[in-house]
Amino acid sequence: MDYTLTEEQELLRRLVEDFVAREVKPYLETAGEEFPWPLFRKLGELGLAAIPFPAEYGGGGLDYTSYSIVLEELSRLGSHLGSVLAVHGLPQLILNHFGDETQKKKYLPAMARAELLGAFALTEPHAGSDAASINTRAELRGDKYILRGQKIWITHGGDADIYLVMAVTGKGKGSRGISSFIVEKGAAGLAFGKREKPMGLPHHTREVFFEDCEIPSRNLVGREGDGFKVAMTALDSGRVTVASTSVGLAQAAFDYALSYAHERKAFGQSIGEFQGIQFMLADMAAAIEGARCVTRKAAFLRDRGLPFNAVASMAKLLATDAAMKVTTDAVQIYGGYGTSEDYPVQALFRQAKIGQIVEGTNQIQRMIIARELLKKFKQ
Ligand SMILES: Cc1cc2nc3c(=O)[nH]c(=O)nc-3n(C[C@H](O)[C@H](O)[C@H](O)COP(=O)(O)OP(=O)(O)OC[C@H]3O[C@@H](n4cnc5c(N)ncnc54)[C@H](O)[C@@H]3O)c2cc1C
Repeated sequence: MDYTLTEEQELLRRLVEDFVAREVKPYLETAGEEFPWPLFRKLGELGLAAIPFPAEYGGGGLDYTSYSIVLEELSRLGSHLGSVLAVHGLPQLILNHFGDETQKKKYLPAMARAELLGAFALTEPHAGSDAASINTRAELRGDKYILRGQKIWITHGGDADIYLVMAVTGKGKGSRGISSFIVEKGAAGLAFGKREKPMGLPHHTREVFFEDCEIPSRNLVGREGDGFKVAMTALDSGRVTVASTSVGLAQAAFDYALSYAHERKAFGQSIGEFQGIQFMLADMAAAIEGARCVTRKAAFLRDRGLPFNAVASMAKLLATDAAMKVTTDAVQIYGGYGTSEDYPVQALFRQAKIGQIVEGTNQIQRMIIARELLKKFKQ
């Protein structure tokens, strides 16, 4: 496995670096809590809104390694724009993998141009980690499905145009009874509830309600009963994206802390001259490097069609834990200033915590890794 970037990957990385410096930075300095539409549309114009999806449907046709590099670079000012792209990628991945030709042609090119924003709706108030226990139901009536239920914590909720929704179609509960559906914004009975304000993120997540929400039966993705597999397939790949954004934000916190350690004086010298601070910086750099390597390995395995889900879980676990540690230490190196909203590291620290929870908490990642380890005794 080669960790150096190809010429094409380096050009892509520089394109994103330039976009972040010229457009993302000034935008974020004045941004409110609204969804960053101008930046999202620009991602489409730059050809960055569908990097790993087929060119035939308007995507970049690139590998997951390139996608990971872009997400890392996009997160150098914090994870929010990287997570916009990563979440938008979940419904794209599902449509690309499980959708029929009509669904692909209808949605994927417009999503690649960032004309349509996507959302992924699995979590419910009583069912997060235990996703097979969802209660939202979809009932087939003639040529329509009628959806009833509630989702929570839906990133892009209210803003997104396309919701990939998991709902129970089978009798009783459990993973085999779950199916997945496309719900378009504007569908009768689709409503949005309370905005949640997750810490560190400039824009919100939102509750989504299905109140006898009617959708055409052709909006079923895959077959009835495929929904749990659909959701887990998307999350396996999604974990590589969470790991990538976490590496980017950890690197950002480290860069701030390194400069600050050099500039800040105490006891007549830079605080970076103290061994206590140097050891902290060394541990931070090592944690980032390790997290980046395992994240690239997960992308590498995926790109070659090899089993990657356990390594993707390891990448998500290690990269988000690394981001938590690095951002915590960055706040420490800044001392009192680290806690101030006038300085950037506290926001990165709060965003890092979100990474340990989304797309399967880090306890769930350990369960996935352990399940893979123990598989050999069950064959
Ligand atoms: C900012 C943000 C954005 C989100 N965006 C989306 C989105 O777009 N779409 C979507 O569907 N969801 C989204 N979520 C929801 C997210 O996926 C869930 O919060 C997450 O899966 C955890 O579920 P929960 O909050 O219900 O926690 P719970 O499942 O209630 O877990 C609570 C605690 O118990 C632990 N735990 C649970 N089960 C076990 C076990 N078997 N062993 C050990 N520990 C366990 C967990 O690790 C956790 O620490 C988002 C959440 C946040 C915070």
